[in-house]
Amino acid sequence: MESACSVFGCCCCCCSGMWGSHGFPAIQEIQEEDAELVEKYLENYYNLNKDTQAGKQRRSINSQVEQLEQMQKFFGLEVTGRPDKKTLNVMKQPRCGVPDVASFTTMPGNPVWEMKNLTYRIVNYTPLLPKSVVEKAFRKAFQIWSEVSALTFTRISQGEADIMITFIRGEHGDNNPFDGPGNKLAHAFGPGPRLGGDVHFDLDETWTNESWIEDFKFNLYYSAAHEFGHSLGLGHSSDIASLMYPIYQYSGQVLLGQDDVDGIQELYGPPKKPINKKFLTTPQACDGNFTFNAVTTVRGEVMFFKERFYLRPLYQDKYQEVNLISVFWPHLSGGFDAAYEFEEDDKILFFKGHKYWAVQNLKALFGYPKDIYQSFGFPRTVTKIDAAASDVYTGKTYFFVANKYWRYDEKKKSMDEGYPKITAQDFPGINKVDAAFCKNGLFHLFHGTKHYEYNPITKQVTTGKINSLFNC
Ligand SMILES: [Zn+2]
Ligand SMILES: [Zn+2]
Repeated sequence: MESACSVFGCCCCCCSGMWGSHGFPAIQEIQEEDAELVEKYLENYYNLNKDTQAGKQRRSINSQVEQLEQMQKFFGLEVTGRPDKKTLNVMKQPRCGVPDVASFTTMPGNPVWEMKNLTYRIVNYTPLLPKSVVEKAFRKAFQIWSEVSALTFTRISQGEADIMITFIRGEHGDNNPFDGPGNKLAHAFGPGPRLGGDVHFDLDETWTNESWIEDFKFNLYYSAAHEFGHSLGLGHSSDIASLMYPIYQYSGQVLLGQDDVDGIQELYGPPKKPINKKFLTTPQACDGNFTFNAVTTVRGEVMFFKERFYLRPLYQDKYQEVNLISVFWPHLSGGFDAAYEFEEDDKILFFKGHKYWAVQNLKALFGYPKDIYQSFGFPRTVTKIDAAASDVYTGKTYFFVANKYWRYDEKKKSMDEGYPKITAQDFPGINKVDAAFCKNGLFHLFHGTKHYEYNPITKQVTTGKINSLFNC
């Protein structure tokens, strides 16, 4: 995979391929409201040309197809020039208001601050959070960048700061109006005098401090960290691991991608203190050290989950597909510990901490997250599930927690008696399981970079490496 460039004004690089959709819904016919969405999206973020001359109101269809292709390329989607389901899913997600293509109004050229010690001022606040919470969110968001560069940030409470931070709604005099709750969340201006460096947050958004994902609530710390990247001169990155990716994709943590670090250091140099941190990169299944957090079958196909990404090995085509979980299920952010499919109901459950989410007929269900104590009867001592797998032949689901496992009866909707049991006693040689799925009566269990195949009839285990599943 190519490393995407992150400095505004760079080309956008194709990130990851999206090949055939085995077992997934076919491209749907575009609805009228979707056509409007596509046009608006391309206008806002891809510089879709409006013909302003009188009598020439018609937009060029070719231009729309080209911009759509550019958008699909940016987001690592299959480049079809048509607004297919995945493309529309991406367009419907809340995002930053700064365009994805260069030579738009926000940051022409590649502006950079000449000084390294910058000031910021919080001009006003959202009424939904205590002032101290807003101040802490901004302080932490600046710290994310000062930790990896030679920059420092000082807050001032009067006068003109380099970076002026405002909560504002609707049309607000910079030709980039906000749009009420959802969609466009915030935007920022690249380094420069007056408006330069300034950040505007949509006052109509429900800004939060919570780490849980809820519809139409947005984490201020995460959004600020992204917008401050623009204030410092970074544009949008097409690298899905980058904080400068344009879509809101908060999954409980605010982490920089390696791409962000490379970008900011190119502009301002490294910090004085050496960095002992690893930064997010898009998972590479064929890397010998590849590990992941959860795996499940999805209508018979295996899907792996790591942080906010999914990976699909496509055996026959020898391709791997890597993208954001939210491209498939816009309501799910990721960071799952475990997942399993209950085929009979065409349902998939995703677990994170003591909460879980459900997808049925490939659509995220409303009313989630729910908690594992009430739904499954786990004791409160279980704070997280490491792995889960459901056996379609027996209707039993296995939950692995540390060195033990529970067995749940999907018909009776209760835990079987006599559990938890010690995993190694029933799955010979396997002490701990990080992820699991069940397919064709065989259990596939994973720990570290190891892959175990357990046959419940012969009680035999065969051991292999994870990347053998990806045709590396
Ligand atoms: Zn942005
Ligand atoms: Zn603005």
